[in-house]
Amino acid sequence: MTESTTSTTALVTGGNRGIGLAIAHALRDAGHRVVVGCRSGQAPDDFDAVTLDVSDTASVDAAFGEAEKITGSGVGVLVANAGITRDQLLMRMSDEDVDAVLDTNLVGAIRCARRAVRPMMKRKGGRMIFVSSVIGLHGGPGQVNYAASKAGLVGVARSISRELGGRNITANVVAPGFIETAMTDELSDDLKATYRGHIPAGRFGAASEVGAAVAFLASPQAAYITGAVVPVDGGLGMGH
Ligand code: NDP
Repeated sequence: MTESTTSTTALVTGGNRGIGLAIAHALRDAGHRVVVGCRSGQAPDDFDAVTLDVSDTASVDAAFGEAEKITGSGVGVLVANAGITRDQLLMRMSDEDVDAVLDTNLVGAIRCARRAVRPMMKRKGGRMIFVSSVIGLHGGPGQVNYAASKAGLVGVARSISRELGGRNITANVVAPGFIETAMTDELSDDLKATYRGHIPAGRFGAASEVGAAVAFLASPQAAYITGAVVPVDGGLGMGH
């Protein structure tokens, strides 16, 4: 195993709650030194945390610097997880709804990836994992902005794979389906029942199941996987 693929510093954006927190736990359980990046700069469960707003380049740069200071090493695993929804039917969707979702989910991930490249090149390897969604490929009514942002992450990961694959840097996408978190709690019971009916596994997923997939992609065993889209969706997105 190389230094770049084991016990590395891992930065998880939006790692203070929901899926991001579960990812932070899975990476810590796998032996990584995890730093959570979040807007409040505070994370539960004794995680080191840095203030990070992915919509602000200066904040992204400062957060990486802070994480490097805390751990004494460059970030070797980036998990771009921070995300928001502003669902609305297309004809009623405001510019603000479009801009906010694209700027956080897509451009925010690009800002973090861009900052991660130099330290990864220096340490001769790294892992970037982008948290997309089944909606990115499947689409969703009222989710034009969100679907565009999540589909865009596939192009980001694949371009990074082509650009940096020869440098022992992998870039992959994890595409969760319906996972039980605050984001899905907001759905009505009727809508939840409808969605559940379309999921071959017959249930929503747990955040820890997304964490497990991310930890695998960050592991030495996944060194030859790059540009992949790994669904964690109980079969919901099959064929897309
Ligand atoms: P939550 O709403 O529970 O958490 C979202 C996280 O993103 C929070 O930590 C939030 O921080 C953070 N965040 C939002 N905006 C910013 C920002 N500008 N800068 C830094 N952090 C920010 O969502 P989930 O845990 O459910 O979702 C996590 C990811 O998984 C998202 O990208 C989402 O799109 C994706 N996903 C979720 C699914 C689900 O079923 N739940 C399904 C498919 C994909 P703060 O606490 O400061 O608000």
